[in-house]
Formats: sequence, C-alpha cells, structure tokens
Amino acid sequence: MKTHYEVLGCHRNATYEELKRRYQELVLKYHPDKQENLLPATFLEIDTAWKILRDPEQRKLYDDQLTHTQLSEQPLIFATLSLSDLYRHEETLNYSYMCRCGGLYSIAQMEVGLEDCFVHCEGCSLIIHIKCDNEK
Ligand SMILES: [Zn+2]
Repeated sequence: MKTHYEVLGCHRNATYEELKRRYQELVLKYHPDKQENLLPATFLEIDTAWKILRDPEQRKLYDDQLTHTQLSEQPLIFATLSLSDLYRHEETLNYSYMCRCGGLYSIAQMEVGLEDCFVHCEGCSLIIHIKCDNEK
C-alpha cells in the first residue's frame, strides 16, 4: 500500500508548501471531472493524503504510525547465520544464539532447516536471519 507521501509524490520531510503545491498539481491533473479514464480511487487517495498531511497534528500522528509500520516491516537484522552457527542444545534439540543485548534467539529444531527463517530476540527488537541448510 502506498503511503500518503508516495501518493503525493513527496518526500517524507516535504514542507507544507511543497505538499500543498503537489496536491494542487495532482488535483488539476487527476480530478474525476477532468479525466474520464482515471480510476476514482486515485483522486480519493490524493484527497485523503492531503487532508491528513495538511494538518500538523494529523501529520504527526501519521508519521509516527508510518515509522512504526516501517520498523515492523523492516526489522533490523543482527546477523545472517546458518544453522551450524547456532548453539545446539543436545537435550531439547533446540537452537539458540546470543544477541548483543544479552538476550537469546531461540528456535525449535522443527522450525528450521526447510526454509529461511527469521527469529526475534527475546530481549530487544533485533532479529536474526537463519539461512536454510540444504544438506539433508
Ligand atoms: Zn537482543
């Protein structure tokens, strides 16, 4: 899904004036009265984007939300490892790896090996990427 900034074709830190100018350009170009072949959704998107971004409070809320979403979509990867880099617990047959925060990444054996997986640290927001081992 496009962000409101993408809809308006503006950078995230665009000023109010830039957003406004861009909105006006787009409205002229995409207004449903003027462009028969345009999907109404586009105009709606542009309009919605502008209504939120023109209001400093709403924009701030939206920015916070966006930051949050982007963080959860693109977590920080602490390390990319293969299974053999992990510590294997002989008793439980689970794997673990120590994070830089002192927390652990722990993975049950059945969760790894078939395809790449991502594991969250127990102590912070970092993740590790475990590459699939094809040595079976
Ligand atoms: Zn951690």
